[in-house]
Amino acid sequence: MCGIVGYIGNKHPKDILLNGLKTLEYRGYDSSGIAIKNDKNIQIIKSVGKISNLEEKINNTKLIESNMGIGHTRWATHGEVNLVNAHPHQVGNITIVHNGIIENAKEIKDKLMNKGIKFKSNTDTEIACALINYNYNGDIIDAINKSTNELIGSYAFAILVKDKNMLYAVRKDSPLLLGIGDNEFFIASDLSAIIKYTNKYILLDENEIVELSDTYRIIKNNKIVKKEILIADVNDELVSKCGYEHYMLKEIMEEPVVLENTLKPYLDNLNLLPDISKYKEIHIVGCGSALYAGMIGKNLLEEKANVKVLCEVASEYRYKNIIYDRKTLVILISQSGETADTIAALRKAKKYGIDTLSIVNVKTSTISRESDSRIFIEAGKEVAVATTKAYILQAAILSLIAYKTALKRKSISDKSILNEFRKLPKLLSEVINRDDYIRIAKEIYKSSNVFFIGRKIDYSICLEGSLKLKEISYIHCEAKEAGELKHGTISLIDNDIPVFGIITDKDIADKTISNIEEVKSRGAKVIVITNIELNKYDYEILVPKVNDFCQSLLVVPTLQLIAYEIAKLRGCDIDKPKNLAKSVTVE
Ligand code: GLU
Repeated sequence: MCGIVGYIGNKHPKDILLNGLKTLEYRGYDSSGIAIKNDKNIQIIKSVGKISNLEEKINNTKLIESNMGIGHTRWATHGEVNLVNAHPHQVGNITIVHNGIIENAKEIKDKLMNKGIKFKSNTDTEIACALINYNYNGDIIDAINKSTNELIGSYAFAILVKDKNMLYAVRKDSPLLLGIGDNEFFIASDLSAIIKYTNKYILLDENEIVELSDTYRIIKNNKIVKKEILIADVNDELVSKCGYEHYMLKEIMEEPVVLENTLKPYLDNLNLLPDISKYKEIHIVGCGSALYAGMIGKNLLEEKANVKVLCEVASEYRYKNIIYDRKTLVILISQSGETADTIAALRKAKKYGIDTLSIVNVKTSTISRESDSRIFIEAGKEVAVATTKAYILQAAILSLIAYKTALKRKSISDKSILNEFRKLPKLLSEVINRDDYIRIAKEIYKSSNVFFIGRKIDYSICLEGSLKLKEISYIHCEAKEAGELKHGTISLIDNDIPVFGIITDKDIADKTISNIEEVKSRGAKVIVITNIELNKYDYEILVPKVNDFCQSLLVVPTLQLIAYEIAKLRGCDIDKPKNLAKSVTVE
């Protein structure tokens, strides 16, 4: 969520900061700004809205000579979206940008106001800035230490100090890394922002203070810390749309390839997947699509492997009274591995001594590092805010885990299922290359409400289909268990309201069909996605029939593509939907 980039070296920082911020755009933001510095001055330029507004403003401003600067994209948490609240913030000697939330900002503000300090913005960031300035008397490391000791919440700070030709950074519960170039240094929320300039980097741990000049020092508790320099694969970080109109479409089209790459090692050797059959209970925790991928896993583990599974949204799980059985495994799912609520859920489980397994895309992420064991999905970089390929891989890994667990628990013995997993990429490729999606999108895109109904695993598919459509098209969407519809929601069904019916579970198909008939007879425009030849509805998408473990992976992409086409017809900003962020690093 939001982003930071910083530079110190022998070049003017303008282009490096702007390029970095543009790369970080995918994380979601509502305003942006930079501060550049030389011996005498610090110049701040901010703008509301797109980075292109900031770029225009910068290009129309006479910039000071400089070799260092900090840049920020803000996703407002404290104070509305306006120029004053945009970062950087400056109080006295200190200029900072911040990602995160300071939870005790109000208390600190009251304390500082009692000492006569005045504030211009409504942000928690300006309060943190004022606190560092208040604690500063020439020793900035001491001021940062004193201040971070007092701050409660999450932060990644990049800091310029008026009388120091250095750049400082520190983080806790918000991502930030140090990039090492030739006689130049960078800081960034993620590597993509600086990969153009260097592939050498250091991951910063909590409250390690970085001091950058013509060299770098990392300091924790007043001691120098030695850290490993990591080398990134440049190809992983450099991404383009490869001729597609949007990243989202490109990423859907990549699904067959990434599915093959991710599953191959496990299909060759199932032992590479963790054996979870020994656990009495599984908790699957995630947010948004990751949670819904978890729901696919829950269905399969329960139905096929007879395991008790709780699948819970991370922001609830972290605060709930979870009654743990000691033989519980907690599976955390997060594309970025930096989702704040999921990190908190992971730490909660660890606090209770419960085993944790993560399923993440970003290998160096906090969740990957802190969990007891981990499975990486090989999605490559996902740029579109609304996840598609990462969701498919999360669901695929969970489906394979469910299959392995069912084998281990001897609730199934059918080894041919592995072969169907092997054939999935090819089938998926056929599914996503069909052209019926635009026809359906044209029927729906003017609607203000869309419903999705299904039962059991089909309901889990509905949840993801509904989320995808609402995220990128801004249409109100609701997923309902098909049998629950008549307990309220059916009152909203009217002439021409689109209702998607998902039917892949043959045991329950007739029940869902009855529910579809109920909405149809109330005027709904029914779109059925199924693996059973029904030939009953005007809009029917027939996907190839495969075993239950694999089936959802051929259905969800159809809903992703329909959502994409609808959003396109509505003229939405598909890759960067309003108010959404890719990596939700705040609570
Ligand atoms: N809490 C800060 C604000 O609202 C920072 C938000 C962010 O992470 O961009 O300004």
